[in-house]
Amino acid sequence: MPKILTGNQIRQEFIDFFKGKGHQFVPSSSLVPGGDQTLLFTNAGMVQFKDVFLGADKRNYTRAVNSQKCMRVAGKHNDLDDVGRDDLHHTFFEMLGNWSFGDYYKKEAIAWAWELLTEKWGVDKSRLWVTCFKDEKGQVETDQEAADNWKLQPGIIHDHIMFYGRKDNFWEMADTGPCGPCSEIHFDRGPEYCDKQEDPKHICGVNSDCHRYLELWNLVFIQYNRTSSTNLEPLPARHVDTGMGFERIVSVLQNVDSNYRTDLLFPLIEKVRELSRQSEKERDENFTPYRVVADHARAAAFLIADGVVPGNIGRNYICRMIIRRAARFGSKLGLTEPFLGKIAEIVIEQYGGAFPELEKNHKTIINNLTREEERFQTTVESGLSYLEDAVRALKKQGKSELDGKLAFDLYATHGLPLEITRDVLREKNLEVDQKGFFAAMEEHRINSGAGKEFGPMGGEDAEFFSILGESLRKEKKLDQHGVIYDPYNLSKTDSLIAGIVTDSDSVKEIIKGQEAGVILSKTGFYIESGGQVSDLGKLVSEDGKNIFEVIDVRKPAPGIIVHFGKVEQGKFSAGDPVLAEVDQKRRQDIMRNHTATHLLHAELRKVLGEHVRQAGSLVAPDRLRFDFTHPSALSQDELQQIEKEINEEILNNFALSMTQKKLSEALEEGAMALFGEKYGEDVRTISIGGENPFSYELCGGTHVSETAEIGTFIITSEGSAAAGIRRIEAITGRKAYELVSRRLNTLVEIKNLINTSLDEVVPSIDRLIHEKEELRKEISKFAATKAKTVYQAAKSNVRQIAGKTVLTLLLENSDQNTMRELADSFRQDFPSGTAVFANSDDSGNIQLISTVTDDLIKEGITAGAIIKKIASEIGGSGGGRPQLAQGGGTDLTRLKEIFENIGDYL
Ligand code: ATP
Ligand code: MG
Repeated sequence: MPKILTGNQIRQEFIDFFKGKGHQFVPSSSLVPGGDQTLLFTNAGMVQFKDVFLGADKRNYTRAVNSQKCMRVAGKHNDLDDVGRDDLHHTFFEMLGNWSFGDYYKKEAIAWAWELLTEKWGVDKSRLWVTCFKDEKGQVETDQEAADNWKLQPGIIHDHIMFYGRKDNFWEMADTGPCGPCSEIHFDRGPEYCDKQEDPKHICGVNSDCHRYLELWNLVFIQYNRTSSTNLEPLPARHVDTGMGFERIVSVLQNVDSNYRTDLLFPLIEKVRELSRQSEKERDENFTPYRVVADHARAAAFLIADGVVPGNIGRNYICRMIIRRAARFGSKLGLTEPFLGKIAEIVIEQYGGAFPELEKNHKTIINNLTREEERFQTTVESGLSYLEDAVRALKKQGKSELDGKLAFDLYATHGLPLEITRDVLREKNLEVDQKGFFAAMEEHRINSGAGKEFGPMGGEDAEFFSILGESLRKEKKLDQHGVIYDPYNLSKTDSLIAGIVTDSDSVKEIIKGQEAGVILSKTGFYIESGGQVSDLGKLVSEDGKNIFEVIDVRKPAPGIIVHFGKVEQGKFSAGDPVLAEVDQKRRQDIMRNHTATHLLHAELRKVLGEHVRQAGSLVAPDRLRFDFTHPSALSQDELQQIEKEINEEILNNFALSMTQKKLSEALEEGAMALFGEKYGEDVRTISIGGENPFSYELCGGTHVSETAEIGTFIITSEGSAAAGIRRIEAITGRKAYELVSRRLNTLVEIKNLINTSLDEVVPSIDRLIHEKEELRKEISKFAATKAKTVYQAAKSNVRQIAGKTVLTLLLENSDQNTMRELADSFRQDFPSGTAVFANSDDSGNIQLISTVTDDLIKEGITAGAIIKKIASEIGGSGGGRPQLAQGGGTDLTRLKEIFENIGDYL
């Protein structure tokens, strides 16, 4: 083998090799797949090209090369169980790929793969094995074409070309859609790698599930469109989609026995060892926690860089889970203080060149990791001890599965993610009811009002609508790319009804009162994306007699747009011409809020700093909501400055400039790309501020043409949205006017009430408050004097009951302090006796205080008992010490009776 290359060099050589073959380099897309609600994370290189294969998106290149960031930790592809246990699966990994969109095919793909591996990188040809497709059911054609092409490769051993069936060698995107046979390249690491040598039935070989043969690279040849479970149609344009595990090829080229010993991950392992002060031997004897920590720290750093911070649901939950899981494995190595930031520093250093988003979000990554570890530390101990209790209870009952609801409670109240609970249980040969966990989580999510995040339509209906779309295209009811969508120019447009759907069934006609989904040949209704909500409006027949009210618009499958709503008047049939009318007033309110959101984003970065990143937004007609990364609450001054400057920008009346551009060009010019958005190669950019725009974003939303249209901008609240994320809500235009007008009216009412002028309102109220304070003091002084006078008078006619001195005194509008003073005076004035003081105030409440001298306490009379008794009879409660007790109540008439007959109570 030639000299050992670094991981970064290997990635670059891969890219350069295919660039040399006419491929365009396309940067990795975000780990958060844009516009695809069916997928939690990008899990393969093809995700960003899915629409190209489906024919819904076109690029101006036909050959592409990339290294895609992937996460396989949820959904269909979930490798979490293997991570830590083996040396070849990660949660986060890179997938190297070369792509042909209707351009070259098997011949070139196979020849170039062979050339790169064996000639450029010098991999030993005798250790390479390849697989081709042969249908075990005999229904789909054998991929002899691939096998024949492999045979042509110089130095390939013909016996190393093998055939496998559907599971290993036929690739499908979904139940329907593009698909085709694939060819995998495996590397024989040598017999010593077999981890099943003890198993007498095991025979080493490709796809035999031992670690000797390493799957390196999968070449997928997309040549069919699956229209049903039994029908494949040949595609007019055939594609190539390849994916090579980057860490795996690096392990082969660096001649090490584990992905974790490549220069990509070994520095992380060594940092963990340094922090835990273990020897190399100790490390190798107990490698699992090392692997988990290295893998998870890297994954978390990449997630946070893509805007996914720790949180409670969806993607954010995954981020939280892997950080906490890493922390727990770290604690097994004695790492009890936050340490993941230190590991992430190395990730950033190692990967920052190829993935600049890491460097850009350096601080955010470290802060989020550390904060999450700290948060976990505060609950983990109690969480684990609760879990221990639950395990003991399980064992006692002879059960082996922990209740899912209980597992969710462990998460919700003690911060233990399901995956950690599962780890702990598995270490004791127990399991957890995962279905029950997710059911409980779902219930909690809906109850807490956060249920909309992954709406319907994403999964189940997609298939139905894509089949329907396909037939509408064939019948020429839709353009070949599907519904023509132009929310920028078509807010009122003549269109045709292409199809109607009720309850997932295609129908010909709908009548008054019926709810349905209507597919039009073209539409200007905006579909919720980038935080901007969907348009509402109506579809009207030519004569104006038939009206369909649109209450939602969605895109369930590529090229298919459905207007959901109800027939309000008349009826509609497929094929009818209609006027599609967006509610223009509402749309204008939305546009004001959307442009204001861009102003706010820019202003926040200016005032708070460049670390501010959008973490979610809502652009509705009545308000805008903007979530962003920032560690602490904003001060009143900051908020005022932001609001003031935005209003100045509005008044400057900047024209907005909207242009179509290449993504790369826009990014180079410094346009802000937002997390969670999908960007094709051609993007729309919005800039505000002329030559040197102060706001420049990639955005598909609808906007005002000049900032003055926004009207007034008012921030209505600022608060915390999640850890490390702040949320601002604001209003503009009509809502802002309404608020200002309402507030002004209130002000005028106040002015009238206190009978002053508007300018004098504040000093006047100040004065009133001051006066009230003075009066209160006067009154309490007066009340105290009065109480003392009353007491002096009462003192002279205390009663003697059964030879004991008893004083009862009812005061009015006095206070607790005065009563206590009187109680003190009584004890000084009378060496032996009992007193009960009551005070009734204007609001009808009665306070009681009783005191008893020590000699009587010895006889069993206590203040506590007296108060308890009296209070309970006047509708209240009370109690206290034998010497002094207090209470209250409300029934004044009863109190007077009691005072009359106080003897009965002693
Ligand atoms: P495996 O059977 O090893 O899990 P796969 O069949 O799931 O692989 P593909 O979906 O074909 O893999 O992905 C293409 C390539 O990506 C694989 O050949 C492999 O090299 C790499 N790969 C897949 N999953 C992982 C992972 N979790 N971590 C690292 N590399 C991976
Ligand atoms: Mg796999």
